[in-house]
Amino acid sequence: MKPLEAGVLFWAERHAIEDVAALGVRIAQLGIGPAVALSPEYAAAWRERIAAADLAVRTVFAAYEGEDYADIPTVQRTVGFVPPETRDAREARTYEVIDFAANIGAPSFACHIGAIAPHGHDAVLHLVRRIADRCAAAGLSFALETGQETAPELLRFMDEVARPNLGINFDPANMILYGTGDPIEAFELLAPQVVSVHAKDGVYPPKSNPEALGAETPLGQGEVDLPRFVSALKAADYSGQLFVEREGVDRDQWIADVGTALNTLARLAL
Ligand code: MG
Repeated sequence: MKPLEAGVLFWAERHAIEDVAALGVRIAQLGIGPAVALSPEYAAAWRERIAAADLAVRTVFAAYEGEDYADIPTVQRTVGFVPPETRDAREARTYEVIDFAANIGAPSFACHIGAIAPHGHDAVLHLVRRIADRCAAAGLSFALETGQETAPELLRFMDEVARPNLGINFDPANMILYGTGDPIEAFELLAPQVVSVHAKDGVYPPKSNPEALGAETPLGQGEVDLPRFVSALKAADYSGQLFVEREGVDRDQWIADVGTALNTLARLAL
């Protein structure tokens, strides 16, 4: 059993690293959205900020221009590498983000690749291989964010991709928000491939509307069953690092919710 260590996922264009450091964490995941202009100078500035905050960035996340999480059909149409019309531009952007990640010393790159299950995914499969290889050349793992397909579908896809540095960023809340399975059963199935974990919570979509996404909640107020999830993390041969993720709230609420989540995790980790 490895000790749990809690960190925070924060986004370069939405959150301040000073706010993250003030929460008392030592590890983080850094998100890079589409509005961020990447350059060697930008990476150098982040290296200084990270050192000044005494923070270790374990993963760099990418989100892409045109992604829309309004409901499940919109996600399937717009997110990741599934939409053909944005695939080339997003591939090019991905390589810039990987270069940035390598430049700031992060050991892993992650993103939503999109809903692979309902589409047939040959082009996505080849693209995921190219991204994994690009990550490998830079010394990084490539972590797929969970949720838009069931755990067995994700495992089958990863078997087909067949790249040793391909892993999973497991998000228990996404399994609930997308209605893709019990998060703890999913984690137990995927655990050998999991390289990072989000501490996020949410409630299932209403049964009356099969197109709706569930709603995110503050950690501990949703349907993840956090004590059981933390027990599953402890029971698995997992590094123990988990990153609080909180979306859709303003700065003050973000700081408050992330702080409460870190306290909750500290209690559960005992
Ligand atoms: Mg997540």
